[in-house]
Amino acid sequence: MKSVRLCPDQIYHPGRQDYEQAEIRIANGRIEAIGEKLEPVDGEEIISLPGMTLTPGWIDIHVHANPMDTVIGLHPDQVGILRGSPVVFDAGTVGTDQLDDYVEKMVKTSKTEVKILLNISRIGLQRLDEGSNPEWIDEEAIRKAVVKYPDLIVGIKARASGSVVGNQGILPIRRAKAIAKEVKLPLVVHIGNLPPKVEEVLELLDHGDVITHCFHNKPNGLFDPVGNLIPSARAAKERGVLFDVGHGSASFSFEIAERAFKNGFAADLISTDLYEKNMDGPVVSLSHVMDKMIAMGIPVEDVIDRVTVAPAKKFALTGLGTLEIGAKARLTAYCRENKQMSWTDSVGVQREGREYFSKVWSIVDGEVTKWEG
Ligand SMILES: [Zn+2]
Repeated sequence: MKSVRLCPDQIYHPGRQDYEQAEIRIANGRIEAIGEKLEPVDGEEIISLPGMTLTPGWIDIHVHANPMDTVIGLHPDQVGILRGSPVVFDAGTVGTDQLDDYVEKMVKTSKTEVKILLNISRIGLQRLDEGSNPEWIDEEAIRKAVVKYPDLIVGIKARASGSVVGNQGILPIRRAKAIAKEVKLPLVVHIGNLPPKVEEVLELLDHGDVITHCFHNKPNGLFDPVGNLIPSARAAKERGVLFDVGHGSASFSFEIAERAFKNGFAADLISTDLYEKNMDGPVVSLSHVMDKMIAMGIPVEDVIDRVTVAPAKKFALTGLGTLEIGAKARLTAYCRENKQMSWTDSVGVQREGREYFSKVWSIVDGEVTKWEG
């Protein structure tokens, strides 16, 4: 594969949180060189990125990227590179019933790199009460899947909401935790309406497990009815349980997020929960969700770290989340522009921002896909 030299205004190193004036050469799917002025190579293509900052490819750990016979999924590239994320996690749209088909038809053919949080229910999101029938949980199929796709399956996903689990309550989440522990993968749990109680869910989780939709404002969230952080949330955080935004159509509230930050309770990970019905609002893209975090006063660098180095480390993704030599040639270039913006959460509450991500380009093996939203 030919080499490509990327010439941005600057590059940003997540984790270290420093900027550098540098060019990056990519070849054979990897970062080959970084330097202030790289020696030209015969026949290389030059991509200039004026006014842009180059970072490792942004990783959206909560999207629904399976359009095959599911209620809500979209093509991986629609929620991935076309919205500025060269890497996405399909968050439980797929269960073991569809897994082989999904890997062949979607994962292997998409330009977006797809990792899988495998639904505890073998039917995935072919219907939205996938946790309500114990016969839909097949531990043996999960064991086999994890052995078959060790590089693709990065966690187990379970949804702990009344509409999903029906009268099963906490049982599917317990079974999800047991199998996740056995196969040594993190468990990612969606929280929402009762049952089960959020305390029961939190108490099951260990270091490295993830709560998504952490800032929803339904009852049964991180705060009690009088606005105090529930003790089991604090205890989970102290054990190393991670909290992910998972914005979604109905799961992100500015007021809850602000209250959490005041309690020293920041999100560890930032993701969208992008699917068919929230692409045009209130979610739109990962950069929009990041802009909302920035509008709440979180520094841009911290926000970028939570979609690059943080997920790469927490989910042990090799070659991602870094601009080191040898890292994957999956990059994101962005521009921020001054403009008075108004951001809306999942319940119609608005916050103002003074700047925004005006351009977010996915660069995969030297091919640029532009998102300008
Ligand atoms: Zn979701």
